[in-house]
Amino acid sequence: MQTTTQHTQPGHAPHRGPEDFPEHAKEALQNAPLQQALQLLVTNFVPRRVNAMAALGNAEELRTEARAIKERTIARLDEYLDLFAAQAQRAGVQVHWAADAAEARDIITGIAQRIEARVIVKGKSMATEEIHLNAHLEQRGYEVVETDLGEYIIQLAGETPSHIIAPAIHKTRQQIAALFHEHLGTPYTEEIPELTQIARQALRGQFLRADMGITGANFAIAETGSIVLVTNEGNGRLSSTMPRVHVALVGMEKVIPRLSDLAVMVKVLTNSATGQKISSYVTMLTGPRREHDLDGPEELHVVLLDNGRSGILRSANREALYCLRCGACLNVCPIYQNVGGHAYGGVYPGPIGAVLTPMLSGLDTAKHLPRASTLCGACRDACPVKINIPHLLLNLRQQLVERHDVPRTERVLFTLWSWIMRSPWLYKTALALAALLQKPFVTQGWLSTLPGPFAGWTQARDFKAVASRSFRQRWQDTLQHERPAPVSSEVASDE
Ligand code: SF4
Repeated sequence: MQTTTQHTQPGHAPHRGPEDFPEHAKEALQNAPLQQALQLLVTNFVPRRVNAMAALGNAEELRTEARAIKERTIARLDEYLDLFAAQAQRAGVQVHWAADAAEARDIITGIAQRIEARVIVKGKSMATEEIHLNAHLEQRGYEVVETDLGEYIIQLAGETPSHIIAPAIHKTRQQIAALFHEHLGTPYTEEIPELTQIARQALRGQFLRADMGITGANFAIAETGSIVLVTNEGNGRLSSTMPRVHVALVGMEKVIPRLSDLAVMVKVLTNSATGQKISSYVTMLTGPRREHDLDGPEELHVVLLDNGRSGILRSANREALYCLRCGACLNVCPIYQNVGGHAYGGVYPGPIGAVLTPMLSGLDTAKHLPRASTLCGACRDACPVKINIPHLLLNLRQQLVERHDVPRTERVLFTLWSWIMRSPWLYKTALALAALLQKPFVTQGWLSTLPGPFAGWTQARDFKAVASRSFRQRWQDTLQHERPAPVSSEVASDE
């Protein structure tokens, strides 16, 4: 099939902002194509991870080991970062430190200017999303091409990723077919092999044109100064080796101490992310091209990004820095499964996004996100490094309560609830009252519609009605009917 490499690139739309999560969530629930696309999480991603972890045989031990590695590393992060920087420099890498997004963007733009780059290819990288790099480079006249298939799709659509590892999961096959037809000028087809072939042909030429490649990194090994890319499409390898200059933007929590730790980390990452024993490509880069190397960049730059991570390190939610960005917590989350990633409004969606976004961009703007959870614990159970996400969300909710930043109704209801729970008499009276007041709304033992401020609770679910007789009353009855006969004094004296 012939395709043209000339295509229009609308660029990345900005993230929508987490302030309006409730409105975004409502819109998402009404969005039929999105709801259709999100089915893939339940039918594909979740069972693949569950089966893969079961097949490992020692998944629990591996998760414990992976967590221990992250715990050790984050506890001495400064030392491991220094070691990584020293070893990378020894291998010929130019290491840069970026305190925030603006500094990281300036460093990368400075490199692009110096080498007079025009075309930049990119591997998938959430860190570059975090610093809004594409828009920054495009505004300065650079042609930026995403080369991961999902990222390429959303770049054509002018959107942002809605999932950490499957950025275009919110798109149906029909939407992608229409997008390719419109932007690449190819015949309309919904056949997946044909669609991937179209993308492949459009992108191959870009690698040859590119002056600079930008990627993230899944891991940075302190012992060797290597960075590691874990991908399935080979675009990470092409982006990092074909252009004459490669820049890797690496969140500073990505460091791991030793090469031997990598075996554990890659195993838990790929099994959790895509249910694969190992991904198609695991690329380890130690320094730029050497004299006798067949390929590789002339310059390799690693930009170590803080951008709020030091703040997380000092906080009670330090555990959030263990995250491997596998996406497993998103896939199992009942909220994410229903509203998708764009509703969260930040770069990182889902349960871990509900922790990271408020911590990276401020609790004031993202105060809805810690509440966007049922606290069911599915995310914690799926996480390859056992991050206790519900606990981290509760920490953030506690901060909101301490700042009195909770809705008035919620404050009044919880104050009442705390009074009631501390007084047996009040508890008994409240139950009796609730049983009485609910009567007009009960249908066959269920509450399907509640009035006034409670209406939202029953908009999408039913509640079991309060029982007409409380547990305490029924327990008293049981005791009265089944009271054992008194023990006779003769038997009692046997001892
Ligand atoms: S919090 Fe855990 S499950 Fe979620 S993306 Fe990070 S590593 Fe994966």
